[in-house]
Amino acid sequence: MKVAVIGAGISGLLSAYHLLPECAVTIYEKEARCGGLGGIFRHDGATIERYNHFFSKSDTELIRVIAALGLSGSLYWAKVKEAYVDGNRSSASKMALLRLAWFMLRNYRRKHSGALLEKDAAQWLKNECGLDCYERFFRPLLEFKFGAAENVSAAYIWARLKEKKNTRIGSLRGGLNMLWQRLEEVISCRGGKFMFDTDVEQIAPAGADKWQLKTKTGTITYDCVVCCLPVKQTKLLCPDFTRVIGHACAPEYLCVRSLLLSLKQPLKKGYWLFMVRHPQKGMKVVIDTSAINGMPVVYFPVYQRVLENKTPEIFLAECIEYLKLIAPGFKPDWVNEYFVFSDCDVEPVLTPEFLLARKDVAEFPAGLFIPELLAEGRLLKTFNTAAVKSRIIAGYIRSKYVRDNTG
Ligand SMILES: Cc1cc2nc3c(=O)[nH]c(=O)nc-3n(C[C@H](O)[C@H](O)[C@H](O)COP(=O)(O)OP(=O)(O)OC[C@H]3O[C@@H](n4cnc5c(N)ncnc54)[C@H](O)[C@@H]3O)c2cc1C
Repeated sequence: MKVAVIGAGISGLLSAYHLLPECAVTIYEKEARCGGLGGIFRHDGATIERYNHFFSKSDTELIRVIAALGLSGSLYWAKVKEAYVDGNRSSASKMALLRLAWFMLRNYRRKHSGALLEKDAAQWLKNECGLDCYERFFRPLLEFKFGAAENVSAAYIWARLKEKKNTRIGSLRGGLNMLWQRLEEVISCRGGKFMFDTDVEQIAPAGADKWQLKTKTGTITYDCVVCCLPVKQTKLLCPDFTRVIGHACAPEYLCVRSLLLSLKQPLKKGYWLFMVRHPQKGMKVVIDTSAINGMPVVYFPVYQRVLENKTPEIFLAECIEYLKLIAPGFKPDWVNEYFVFSDCDVEPVLTPEFLLARKDVAEFPAGLFIPELLAEGRLLKTFNTAAVKSRIIAGYIRSKYVRDNTG
């Protein structure tokens, strides 16, 4: 049973990990190393993550994989402190705060997203929390994440609230690279083959439920393909996509542009997640990870529907305005160095239409699996969701195809 996995981010690596050794797996990765969005860069002998990532105590599938890989000893949990900084300086009404607290409490207890999938988040929040609370807290957050508050599923808000319940966040001593290296080792030991620096240029049906992958090195036929790319990119690679999968599930995507600052001194003591509302520029999130990696590092991620190409200097100046709201004594000369990273299509906009169009694993057209379109797993695009989906897809491939072929 020959399986091609496209992408060596967490989804591709874990798909290969679960498929081996029963299947002959080849992983195609356009970059020179593993990690995808969780990837690292090297600078002055240090290994630094391009974007800030952490695990949550409810990431049970991921924690299981980390243990199976023998990395539990490197996993540690830090207390995260959260603050809401409002540059408008007008305080929220007591009624708005009370409604917010009551809303959070009720939704922590909710077990399933259920009917929330179909509801529009803005409308639901206005009804549940009142206009004052929605305008002050939720509209700015929805706009920060999605560019606009409209047409986002209420289930997204619920999933985020559930995640927030955990006040400790997990990281790996030695960084995420430990995980990528370990997975690469284990996959290679079990016979998996990596094709780095190899862009898949086309995925095409090759008769009798087989698929052909075209790369710079030629065209190879596989029994199955697990394509761990955004649906939008899969569609471009696979001319038959609409015929085999249908078009209801092609969502709009978010891009991310993130500034990573290394500071001469930490902004605050501890690990902080600040939601900062600038009077003119709206809500942004600032993550101060100084407490966990020993060096004062701050991430300033900005989500956009279309990537802006502001110069790094202008981006830094914007970030500094937010840092001054957090630490009024902040001076630009606290910044040692800064780096800008950006990626397109980092996650789909979770509209009710997209969430409802996702499918069960058995409904995928023979042999082409796209984790992003799988309905299982939690709603947010996280490492844990990727881990759940990869296990489900690999389990299905092993049980259906490997058994069919041998029987
Ligand atoms: C700013 C930011 C912060 C985040 N924070 C967290 C967090 O704290 N916790 C958490 O759990 N998740 C977090 N996430 C989400 C997490 O990064 C993703 O869920 C996860 O990395 C997705 O992994 P993936 O393997 O599905 O996709 P990706 O990581 O995007 O991997 C896809 C891979 O495919 C490769 N590729 C693309 N095109 C081709 C091609 N044509 N041929 C071959 N290879 C190709 C890419 O190079 C890449 O390596 C964050 C994401 C962002 C953007």
